[in-house]
Amino acid sequence: MRKETIAVHGGYKPDPHTHAVAVPIYQTVAYAFDSAEHGAALFNLEAEGYRYSRISNPTNAVLEERLAELEGGLQALCVASGQAAIHYALLNLTQPGRNIVSVPQLYGTTHTLFAHLFPAMGIGVHFAANDSPDAVERLIDENTRAVYCESVGNPAGNVCDIERLAHLAHKYDLPLVVDNTVATPILLRPIDYGADIVVHSLTKFLGGHGTTLGGSIVDSGNFPWAKRAELFPMFNEPDASYHGLIYSAHFGRAAYIARCRSVFLRATGAVLAPLSTFLLLLGVETVALRVERHVENAKRIAEFLRDDPRVEWVNYAGFTDHPSHSLALKYLGGRACSLLTFGVRGGFSGACAFYNALGLVQRLVNMGDAKSLACHPASTTHRQMSADEQRTAGVTPETIRLSVGIEHVDDIIDDLDRALNATYSIVGSP
Ligand SMILES: *Cc1c(COP(=O)(O)O)cnc(C)c1O
Repeated sequence: MRKETIAVHGGYKPDPHTHAVAVPIYQTVAYAFDSAEHGAALFNLEAEGYRYSRISNPTNAVLEERLAELEGGLQALCVASGQAAIHYALLNLTQPGRNIVSVPQLYGTTHTLFAHLFPAMGIGVHFAANDSPDAVERLIDENTRAVYCESVGNPAGNVCDIERLAHLAHKYDLPLVVDNTVATPILLRPIDYGADIVVHSLTKFLGGHGTTLGGSIVDSGNFPWAKRAELFPMFNEPDASYHGLIYSAHFGRAAYIARCRSVFLRATGAVLAPLSTFLLLLGVETVALRVERHVENAKRIAEFLRDDPRVEWVNYAGFTDHPSHSLALKYLGGRACSLLTFGVRGGFSGACAFYNALGLVQRLVNMGDAKSLACHPASTTHRQMSADEQRTAGVTPETIRLSVGIEHVDDIIDDLDRALNATYSIVGSP
């Protein structure tokens, strides 16, 4: 099936018990065993089925299968938020004393996780000077266990060369882990270009309505965890926390998600609630339609901003002079994402004046909502960073990040125009 169809039908046939057409919300903590032997088989991971909703749940299973199909992967695991997904995805393949090499253009909280929390746990994160495969390669050493990037950086808007990064990671027998939140599987499927693991904040475009937090990890099923067993002992040596199970032997290609579920989700419990899953599934049904409109509106708005003398610069990969334009042509089918940044005159205070004058466009830290949203990263998402760290992440004091919604484009433009006028009545006209 094609993406539009998977988004509506993937992972679900009418419920065998009731023939319900909408995915039922299995609001249950536990599942009855037929017998002691049945319970034992489930606990031994020998029988398929459900035990306890911290580990798996039938409503979540539908979303997991739908996302795996949408991304062209083997399996998926859904968790409570995008951050939980990133945390689990990387904990699942590394250990204290090891490191990850990451591009520097990252979502603010991911940067916090990488720069502060992982190192406190003994897991190093090496930030490349930029997103080029050469800069990443320079930092790979014998303790590196993964290469990490955002397919389209939030808020930097850079498009990573997934195919070359995957090729590079594989040269060192390492997996490439990609956060595909900004691009969505509608615009880009990183697995098609060699990525091994894809993570998402479902909170954004996939949920699509700013109502529900969620995250997912999709495994391509292609990475050979057993090839260099010494690099990934967690998949190749008996797991003492699971009566000596060897994941790669027991699960084969499905080892990665099986371990993520049975070790991290089971023991630390960042569970996606089935009611949230239901809302996210509703969002996923329309993601292809919405992304099309988001992208169309963003193009019009980027052109409006570029042509307006009150705006100093616009960072939009759809423009032919953008450094990522040729990668956008290759990976996003010539379309640029609906997340763009721009700078008004007047630095930090100019940006605040503009931000405060917005009416229709909401001031908040979220993106991928049906509504148009604006964020001033320097005062919010990226304020914990130093000025240098902000710059490499693609943030300057005057940067406004716009997540273009699906309203009528002229209404969004009218609002931006009004806010620009209000700004220049404060900082003076160009
Ligand atoms: C929002 C976001 C996250 C974090 O997701 P949450 O669901 O808010 O935890 C991670 N990566 C990117 C690119 C994001 O935009």
